[in-house]
Amino acid sequence: MGIRVKILGSNSAAPAHRRHHTAQLINIEGKYYLMDCGEATQLQLKRYKIRAQRINNIFISHLHGDHYLGLMGLLSTMHLMGRSQKLNLYGPKGLSEIITMQLKYSQTVFNYEINFVEVDTTQSKVVHEDNFVQVTSIPLNHRIPCCGYLFAEKKKNRRIKKEVLPDDFTIRNIVRLKHGEDIFDDDGNLQYKNAALTLPARKSYSYAFCSDTKYDESIIPIIKGVDMLYHEATFLEEHADRAGSTYHSTAKEAATIAKKAEVGKLILGHFSVRYKELEPIRDEAQTVFENSELALEGEEFILDL
Ligand SMILES: [Zn+2]
Ligand SMILES: [Zn+2]
Repeated sequence: MGIRVKILGSNSAAPAHRRHHTAQLINIEGKYYLMDCGEATQLQLKRYKIRAQRINNIFISHLHGDHYLGLMGLLSTMHLMGRSQKLNLYGPKGLSEIITMQLKYSQTVFNYEINFVEVDTTQSKVVHEDNFVQVTSIPLNHRIPCCGYLFAEKKKNRRIKKEVLPDDFTIRNIVRLKHGEDIFDDDGNLQYKNAALTLPARKSYSYAFCSDTKYDESIIPIIKGVDMLYHEATFLEEHADRAGSTYHSTAKEAATIAKKAEVGKLILGHFSVRYKELEPIRDEAQTVFENSELALEGEEFILDL
């Protein structure tokens, strides 16, 4: 399965040129993680036939509206559609207060529990962990507290060669094989070499989502060598002054980070409304880092063998 990243929106500030606000659906081994939730996210989920109720973890990078104003709508729809499953909501200080206040004045109590996890945007820390993935915060340099998130798949088990497995093989021994152990009989004699019955584990992938930020090399050690990096590229280099004053990056700056961090692939997003055509953003990045692509809505970026 690997990691699949579906772009639901990638525009900054205001929706424009048929582009929507930031949101991405990250699918890891069939588990759904929502990354940011700009306005229209629930409509975009519907458009791409993604079942919102399968999302159990939502990560918010910061509290500028283009990254979370779709959240209350999505949470409300989950409630109205009968959700009972607990939802983990990760975001900076203030997010739980905003949601709680809206519930208070609409006199609504959700059917399901929201587990608010306040993320310290000033430090890189593990914020979420499950059987498949570890998620670590990435402090970013923006006008208000903001962080990115690094999704790193956990080490995978070796794969069993079913066709050569003896019929009487116990579940316990299969687990041993998956963990790379050889199989011994009761007297301690080697019965099967692990390599004879298994194939190597599939590669574990990593994906870093770097939301709004000005050029800042301090993130490089955290994202070093990731298979795929999303980095905002709000502006072209010709508007570098504007990028600096608004704490955003240019395409060239995003590509420089990708190059210095030696990532596998760069995805560019958070496009300014001033650009109708986006190819110049990709072209500018490619002058520095060849494997750069645009985060176009509906595109799915797949990390898998
Ligand atoms: Zn933004
Ligand atoms: Zn912002």
